[in-house]
Amino acid sequence: MKNKVYDCLIIGAGVVGASIFNKLVRIGKSVVMIDKASDVATGASKANSGLIHAGFDPLPKTLKAKLNVRGNKLYPDLCERLKIKLKTCGALVVGDDKNKIQELYDRGKANGVKVEIWDREKIVKKVPDINENISVALFAPDAKLISPYLLTISLVDEGILNGGKIVLEEDLVSVKKDKEFFEINTKKHKYFAKNIINSAGCGYNDVAKILGSEEYLIQYRRGEYFVFDKDYKLNVDCTIFPLPTKLGKGVLITPTIDGNYLIGPTSENGEENIETTLSGLDSIKEKASLLIKGIDFGKSIRQFAGVRTIVGDDFVLEKSKKIKGVINIAGICSPGLSSAPAIAEYVLKLLNFKNIEKSGLKTLTSYKLFKELDINTQNKLCKKDENYKKIICKCENITKGDVMKALNRPLKIHSVDGVKRRTNAGMGRCQGGFCFTKVISCIMEATGLSYEEVLKENRGSNVAISDIREVNND
Ligand SMILES: Cc1cc2nc3c(=O)[nH]c(=O)nc-3n(C[C@H](O)[C@H](O)[C@H](O)COP(=O)(O)OP(=O)(O)OC[C@H]3O[C@@H](n4cnc5c(N)ncnc54)[C@H](O)[C@@H]3O)c2cc1C
Repeated sequence: MKNKVYDCLIIGAGVVGASIFNKLVRIGKSVVMIDKASDVATGASKANSGLIHAGFDPLPKTLKAKLNVRGNKLYPDLCERLKIKLKTCGALVVGDDKNKIQELYDRGKANGVKVEIWDREKIVKKVPDINENISVALFAPDAKLISPYLLTISLVDEGILNGGKIVLEEDLVSVKKDKEFFEINTKKHKYFAKNIINSAGCGYNDVAKILGSEEYLIQYRRGEYFVFDKDYKLNVDCTIFPLPTKLGKGVLITPTIDGNYLIGPTSENGEENIETTLSGLDSIKEKASLLIKGIDFGKSIRQFAGVRTIVGDDFVLEKSKKIKGVINIAGICSPGLSSAPAIAEYVLKLLNFKNIEKSGLKTLTSYKLFKELDINTQNKLCKKDENYKKIICKCENITKGDVMKALNRPLKIHSVDGVKRRTNAGMGRCQGGFCFTKVISCIMEATGLSYEEVLKENRGSNVAISDIREVNND
């Protein structure tokens, strides 16, 4: 049989790779996406603030500015189509320096973003607990909240439904170029493709080395966060930022799309490292209390960190000059999530593909959780499927029906964290203390895998190494 030659092979299934994958499938191209991880969205795309920025922050005329503003506009229709939540809550940048707020306002205007300057009286009305030192603010009403991982998962699932292919746990070994196409060898498979898109985030340079394409001086910048118990409510209904600095947008306070509060991130240059640190978390406490009064950090249920990749001052989105047919995507730091759908459009242009979607595209079914449904639908579901009568995660009220449905989505996964990203099971106060083993049982039931084969997250994180009796007998 003749080997299939894909139009494009994408390396890296974060929100950027997933957006490009989805778009290419929708315009009728044959696409395969590979990732070294055991699920999509396990890099920066799972560990960020979950904000669709309005676009006032990036310098005018940069790719960051153009793609952020365009991305923000594309999100409402995209989320409606993917049937995922998006909430417009607005962003408030607060400070005591009128000139700096004016500078941001001018930048926002130049980028075509709706912005307003507020005095203290207006700020206090919106955020009654705002710190006394805050006298002036910039408000951008179009900033939005999203679940970055559910977005990535839904983009991939919809892509698969429409003929795209994704292969996880792939280790890239070598790439050869013939006149017309590339031969891509991983430890497990061989692929042929006319174009290769390197969207490997922190792994960009490793992939570029194998491809022989341009490598960049990448700075890795960690951001640590506190996540709060859902029952803990701050008197805040928008995202509050301090004035930005050279290191980024600073420590922010924001509601999440799921109803928790999130405070962070720090901005620490270093290696690709997602550990949280005492010093990082202490600095968040200090900086957040400059924004609003009376935050009880004892109500935090989890801390996490994500790593930004930074190359100079702008995104790198270009055709490789060294290897024809390779697209380099590097340094996609913030506002990468906000820009992702626009980055996909931009990549089409780089590939000389027209942005015309094919007809007859399939849409995803709704993956609304049982708790989000009305009582009649809940009753119907319970009559049809006993699994909806069983609670798996008590903190988040997630049923076994929700978990089994998530495991039946187009992209098949076998990790506890993968289930968590799709259902929120394990995201509550006890952080999986109650549901961890129940989720493992669901994964075994859905996949036929043994206990030892189920993963916590990526390869090597198996939830068990063998039967306890075997271990004791050693
Ligand atoms: C702390 C923090 C806060 C942020 N907040 C926001 C925000 O609020 N709003 C916003 O717009 N942006 C935000 N960002 C930026 C946003 O998260 C990123 O721009 C975006 O997630 C980048 O997506 P990506 O697909 O390029 O990278 P990633 O999500 O990192 O994906 C890269 C993928 O490549 C895979 N990979 C790596 N190496 C290889 C290899 N050798 N072979 C195969 N696969 C490989 C990885 O497994 C991963 O799945 C934030 C980032 C951070 C870190």
